[in-house]
Amino acid sequence: MPIDQSEAVILRTQSFAEQDKLVVFFSREKGLVRGIAKGARKFNNRFGSSLEPFSVVRIFYYEKERQDLVTVSNCDLLESAFELFRDRRTICFFSYLAELTEKFSPYRAGEEKLYRLLVSLIRAARAGQRVEYLVRYFEYWFLKINGILPDFQTCQKCHRQISNTAWLEPQKDGVLCERCARERKVELSPPLARAINWVRKNPPEANPDPELKPGDWKKLGQVFQAIIIFHLEERPRTLDLLDF
Ligand SMILES: [Zn+2]
Repeated sequence: MPIDQSEAVILRTQSFAEQDKLVVFFSREKGLVRGIAKGARKFNNRFGSSLEPFSVVRIFYYEKERQDLVTVSNCDLLESAFELFRDRRTICFFSYLAELTEKFSPYRAGEEKLYRLLVSLIRAARAGQRVEYLVRYFEYWFLKINGILPDFQTCQKCHRQISNTAWLEPQKDGVLCERCARERKVELSPPLARAINWVRKNPPEANPDPELKPGDWKKLGQVFQAIIIFHLEERPRTLDLLDF
C-alpha cells in the first residue's frame, strides 16, 4: 500500500475501539482527513504526544480502498501545542476553530490557505497574542477563504459607500446602509468596520489597534457568528464556550 505523508494540524482525537484513536487532521495537501491511529491508546505507544490537538506534525498514512478512514502509521511532532493548554480560553478558542474547520471543509479537498491560517494562529497564540483578537482574526479569514465574507463597505441595495452604521442584510451576504436597512438586527458600527480593516491588513501576531475597545472586538464576533450560523444552519456547539 502506498504511504502518503503530509504536514498537518491535528484538530481532534477520540477513543476508537479498545486501543486506537480516531484522529481528525487538516493537512496541507489534502485538507480535512480522518484516520485511525492503531495502538495510540496503549501506554508508551509510538505516537507519543504527536496526536495532541493543535500539534503541527508530519503525518504518514495509507488508504484502503473504499474506506473513508485512512490508517495513520506514524506521526512526527514538528511544533508542540503543549503551552497552549495552560489557558482555558485558548483551549475554548481552538475547540471552536476545530469545529468550524471540520464542519465547513469538504472531505479531502486541499485548501492551503486554510492550512496556513491554522498554523499562523497556533504560532501567534504560542507567542502570547490575545485570544480575543485571534478569534476575530480567525473568523474573518475563515469566512473569506470559504467565500462567504460579505462586502462590508458598500450598501447592497443602493450601492453607496458605507460611511456610518450599517446592518447585516437578512441573507448575510452583504450590508445595508441607514437609508435602506429595514431589519436592524446585526449592527455594524464604525468601530467594527475599523476592526475589520485592521484584521484585513495585519498579521495575527500584530498588536490590535489601540483605539479599539475589548467590547468592539466582542461585538464584531456577533457579526461574524451571525454569518457562520446562517451558512452552517446550526449554532456551533463550541460557541457556547466562548465568552469573548
Ligand atoms: Zn443603501
